[in-house]
Amino acid sequence: MQEFRGLGLGAGSGGQGAGGNRWRMRELAESEHFDWPIFRRALRAFVPYWPYTIVVTIVILAVSLGGAIPAWLTQKIIDEGIQRRDMSLIVEYTLALIGVSIGTGLLGVLQSYLSNLIAQNVMADYRIAIFRHLQRQTVGFFASRQSGDLVSRVTNDVTAIQSVVTSTLVGFVSNLLSIAATLFLMFSMNWRLAVLAVVVVPGFVIPTQRVGKSRQQLQGQIQQWLSKMTVQLSESLGVSGALLIRIFNRQGPEEKEFAESNRTLRDLQVRQALVGRWLFMWLSMFSSIGPALLWGYGGWLVVKGDIGLGVIVAFTALLSRLYGPLSQLAQLHVSILSSVALFRRIFGIMDVEPEVVDGTRAIPDNSVQGSLRLEGVSFSYAPSPRETRAEGPAAANGRSRLPGGGTGGGMGEVGGTPERPAERWALREIDLSIEPGETVALVGPSGAGKTTLLNLIPRFSDPAEGRLLLDGTDTRTLTLHALRAQMGLVPQDPFFFHDTVANNLRLAKDTATIEEMEAACRAAQIHETIAALPEGYDTVVGERGYRLSGGERQRLAIARVLLQGPKIVLLDEATSALDTVIERKIQDALAVLLEGRTALVIAHRLSTILKADKIVVMERGRVAAVGTHAELVARDPLYKQLYETQFHVEAELEGR
Ligand code: ATP
Repeated sequence: MQEFRGLGLGAGSGGQGAGGNRWRMRELAESEHFDWPIFRRALRAFVPYWPYTIVVTIVILAVSLGGAIPAWLTQKIIDEGIQRRDMSLIVEYTLALIGVSIGTGLLGVLQSYLSNLIAQNVMADYRIAIFRHLQRQTVGFFASRQSGDLVSRVTNDVTAIQSVVTSTLVGFVSNLLSIAATLFLMFSMNWRLAVLAVVVVPGFVIPTQRVGKSRQQLQGQIQQWLSKMTVQLSESLGVSGALLIRIFNRQGPEEKEFAESNRTLRDLQVRQALVGRWLFMWLSMFSSIGPALLWGYGGWLVVKGDIGLGVIVAFTALLSRLYGPLSQLAQLHVSILSSVALFRRIFGIMDVEPEVVDGTRAIPDNSVQGSLRLEGVSFSYAPSPRETRAEGPAAANGRSRLPGGGTGGGMGEVGGTPERPAERWALREIDLSIEPGETVALVGPSGAGKTTLLNLIPRFSDPAEGRLLLDGTDTRTLTLHALRAQMGLVPQDPFFFHDTVANNLRLAKDTATIEEMEAACRAAQIHETIAALPEGYDTVVGERGYRLSGGERQRLAIARVLLQGPKIVLLDEATSALDTVIERKIQDALAVLLEGRTALVIAHRLSTILKADKIVVMERGRVAAVGTHAELVARDPLYKQLYETQFHVEAELEGR
């Protein structure tokens, strides 16, 4: 069976798991050329482990020789022991045979230990490097990519490095050495039989190579369809997808689509199994032809008295040690291409330069006044990978619910040159000054650029033009750590990790005592709610944890910022209407939060704009007007309209 191992016909090498390395396989199916620079760069990761590499090479050499020696010893037992009826020689060689087998077995264990050690070290290095690199990326980077794809690169792709080491690198060295050791032994025993053994080689190698490639291509297609199914399953079995399907009565078409993928997958898998079976038959035939020829020609040589019977027996044993490794070497290019595709994906992420570069200036504690100034700030979103590369996974999957394209961001090459045509500015020439302790309310129609502006303050992105100043210092010169330590953010829909309330609060201040947390939560009007939870501050909340309502989440987020105690507060008010009691609680919490702090608030509540020192009206990325409520109602038609449509209703409701 050894000669079939490399073809995936042996045990346990059938196919990849459904989720597994599907993108790797798809790219593998697509990759036609060998990319030497990527391969060289990939090998660099192994450099720190060169001592292990040297030892493992020596061990592989010993294992390869050890694997060939039993055939030679068998020949000795037959020709020198049995034929000459020398019992002591028989015992000697038999003991040697046992010794060599045990030794080779032990060395084999050492070899797999060392190669795993190298692979696991390289994998850990890559995982850490990618994770560290991703931590330096901007929020926009994550907004334009599927999180599943990034997770897959850190886990599946990196995990597949294991097979690169064990099958590609170790496989290459060990097959080469096995062939060399076997040929050496064959030619030293009898060159004529050795030539005969080699003559049969093309019969193995050529079909193996062909079938290996087509199996690999079929495997790539299978992975594509598996991935299409995975996407469909995860979309339609998630709460939001399930809701969408039901409300639009799409169960029928969804079932049809799923059945279609299944049928295609079934056909592909039958084809793949058959390709293997035909080859199996061919190889079984050929693996009998080789020994048959040997017995025929070798038998004639034995009869002539040129060689002993043991030579033929040894040769037939050596044949499998020649054909197996040769078949595997013949397919090596496929696995090398697959490794290159794998590393290309990994490097694709590692080569994305973070858009926001860290500054160098620290800010001494408690020295921030809290004045903010924006000078001629313009910003445009870089085209997302989906825009720059049409063939994203969804497109490749053929699963596109949107008329224009895919279901999510592209997964491929990242970066790209941001084009900034005039009409695509999200913010244009913004000048704004906020004094320490001032509350500024941002209002404007949807899409006016309010969130974009808010995100520039803590440098989630940098403006394309203009600059932002904190206490007169360009924020680009400050370290991100120092800058963000001065800012608290309360988003519209705050996020909490799947962890306890206390640990979620400690994100803001990891040394916070329970008393401090309680004080912050009391100020944010959320303490009573938390105290009433099953385990109080130790209740697990967040994703799939205890579900907090929208209003509770906002107040908990306010408590978190209070605990942090920043000089500047960035707040995106919730839009949802709340009952008067909750509304009052939020207003009270906000009053504490904004007290004595510089605040930039995307305002959705009348009470907030009425309390603001200054209201900034935004329209299509520009500042349309600045003033107080009374001034703006009197002179700005856009504000008047916003007030009448968004805030006036609320005022009327409150007045009732
Ligand atoms: P809303 O009140 O509806 O939240 P907004 O005033 O906060 O709107 P922004 O979210 O800042 O508006 O969006 C400004 C413009 O930038 C919009 O045209 C929006 O489509 C675009 N935009 C926002 N986020 C992105 C993004 N990640 N990539 C590309 N364009 C974006």
